[in-house]
Amino acid sequence: MSGLLICDCCGGGYTILGKDRYGCATRRAKGTCTNGRTILRQRIETRVLSGLRDRLLTPKLVEEFVRSFAEQMAISSGGRVAGGWSTSESLLTLSAGWQACCAR
Ligand SMILES: [Zn+2]
Repeated sequence: MSGLLICDCCGGGYTILGKDRYGCATRRAKGTCTNGRTILRQRIETRVLSGLRDRLLTPKLVEEFVRSFAEQMAISSGGRVAGGWSTSESLLTLSAGWQACCAR
């Protein structure tokens, strides 16, 4: 998911920090962003899913999303899909324009 999350302060990407948190990659790498907020990976996943629920109403789109999202998760978790992502029912939500935002 790292490539899908954008820092609302600097526009840089969010990246996984440590085991289960996402934070601003620019802040981490260069220290030039003031956004020190991090978010639990599980929380982001929940938000993404609930955002999608209302927008991806076509079963085919949902299926496509679930598949590509699971692939992303597998890549970002070192080849293993995190528990719970295999159920398409739990993945009924995703907002294509969803962003991680330091203001929220
Ligand atoms: Zn930032």
